[in-house]
Amino acid sequence: MNMDYLTDKFSLDGKVALITGASYGIGFAMAKGMAAAGATIVFNDIKQELVDKGIASYKEEGIDAHGYVCDVTNEAAVNEMVARIESEVGVIDILVNNAGIIKRIPMCDMTAEQFRQVIDVDLNAPFIVSKAVIPSMIKKGHGKIINICSMMSELGRETVSAYAAAKGGLKMLTRNIASEYGEFNIQCNGIGPGYIATPQTAPLRETQPDGSRHPFDQFIISKTPAGRWGEAEDLAAPAVFLASDASDFINGHVLYVDGGILAYI
Ligand code: NDP
Repeated sequence: MNMDYLTDKFSLDGKVALITGASYGIGFAMAKGMAAAGATIVFNDIKQELVDKGIASYKEEGIDAHGYVCDVTNEAAVNEMVARIESEVGVIDILVNNAGIIKRIPMCDMTAEQFRQVIDVDLNAPFIVSKAVIPSMIKKGHGKIINICSMMSELGRETVSAYAAAKGGLKMLTRNIASEYGEFNIQCNGIGPGYIATPQTAPLRETQPDGSRHPFDQFIISKTPAGRWGEAEDLAAPAVFLASDASDFINGHVLYVDGGILAYI
């Protein structure tokens, strides 16, 4: 037995991976990891300029990614995109529901419409996109779905009521897809990033007017046993693992990639 045994298990050669909202940030880093493992990368984003920027960024990394403009909350648009991907690239073997938004507003100041917008992108969209790809995965005899959850799938805290409700719901959707479609050799797992330095969390790292570090930044560093924010690249290898045959007997779980903060907080 040599390393080839493991290399084969982790290989994504010949696989088509759709990563939503992946023109930059965590989605981009996971897609890069999957491309390195051999997958053909397909991504979407909500605006043409983001897709164009994404395609250029992938090219810089030597990756010929296929980019589509699609709002993942729009079921008709998602169905159309998935049909186009199937005819232009191939059947989707791996889906990563990565697109997400957060609105940091105290619950009692939040409008019902703002709450709905977060639920729409962070919970309804993974349902819509999963539903669009599962029938072809069933026909093909295998499929991997990775839902990007959050520490807020487990916790609540001030200003993130909608996000926590959506990501908690996404954890349960993950379990449900696993139990409902596991018999068709579809594995659905989640990844729960800790605090990762991306544009989404940039406001939490802003230097204060007096030159001091943002209190939340100090809080994260002090509470994370790893002693640092995560980088988007920290998510790449876990995503490859959950997309590969190496994780075939893992179904319905969330892997927290958080530098240990959930264990400590
Ligand atoms: P970003 O906001 O940096 O990236 C998310 C991407 O999704 C953006 O390109 C965004 O486009 C896109 N998007 C938003 N709405 C839609 C939509 N309706 N249709 C298509 N695309 C859309 O997020 P991160 O990279 O930070 O996060 C990626 C995932 O990881 C998210 O699900 C997030 O909740 C989760 N996560 C992030 C953590 C962190 O610390 N960063 C921690 C825990 C979880 P646009 O730029 O136009 O909004």
